[in-house]
Amino acid sequence: MGNFSVSDRNSAAVFAARRRRLLLGVGGITLTSVVGSRLLSGPAGHLPSHREVSAYRKPPGPGGLVTRRNLVTRRAPVAHRPEYPPDRPLYYIHDDSRAIALTIDDGPDPVYTPQVLRLLHQYRVTATFSMVGLHVAAYPHLARTVAEDGHHIANHTWTHSNLVHRPVHRVHAELAWTSHAIHSATGVHPQLFRAPYGAWSATVLRQCEHMRMVPVDWSVDPRDWARPGVRSIVRNIMHNTRPGSIILEHDGGGNRAQTVDALSIVLPRLLREGYHFRTV
Ligand SMILES: [Zn+2]
Repeated sequence: MGNFSVSDRNSAAVFAARRRRLLLGVGGITLTSVVGSRLLSGPAGHLPSHREVSAYRKPPGPGGLVTRRNLVTRRAPVAHRPEYPPDRPLYYIHDDSRAIALTIDDGPDPVYTPQVLRLLHQYRVTATFSMVGLHVAAYPHLARTVAEDGHHIANHTWTHSNLVHRPVHRVHAELAWTSHAIHSATGVHPQLFRAPYGAWSATVLRQCEHMRMVPVDWSVDPRDWARPGVRSIVRNIMHNTRPGSIILEHDGGGNRAQTVDALSIVLPRLLREGYHFRTV
């Protein structure tokens, strides 16, 4: 369980590449449809270069990306890997009870975020929303509502960029702009960071430490972003959730109707099974 086999690595790489294409494509459409070029600038007024903007809209070339799967193994991280940074993201919350954490990524979104909030309110569940800075800048009132409802907000970069292999100044800008936007909208400085695509690097982890944000990954991924069907999302979550699990879902980046429907089923089921939700 310690390491992936070659075929595991290959299939993981193919899977990650497909996912990147889907997410980058969907994200690009969403952004270009809802925000003007004004919002493509950082909060300090700096306009990203053409390369920076197109990096969000188009998938990077083959071989240019390293995902979490190349860097660390998911369920049994290897203790001694000299090439890996000294710290690593959280995959589980550590609690003796049947606590689990729900994370909702890629919003805020004017259609799906309010629907998710209604469900969380109905079942009195507190979650963590990993927000994309550009979306916060476009919908600051939604970010504020999320915070006012008592949920936590994590920094999820400015452009939903894969930060691996990005220069330090770009990593810093992606994180700093987003924290600034979240603070402007909610009055709260985010204390959590989630890397898009689960793509972590030593630079990203160091930047998290520098900005006093805890890097957070996940342990249950029902792949709701791929819209596999409500039953598939429900089955995946119910099958894989354990005490301490961090569950990944999405309220932005595309049509998330399946996610909302699945949440309406899994929230009461998980509560019935004795789990309780804690923020990360
Ligand atoms: Zn994301």
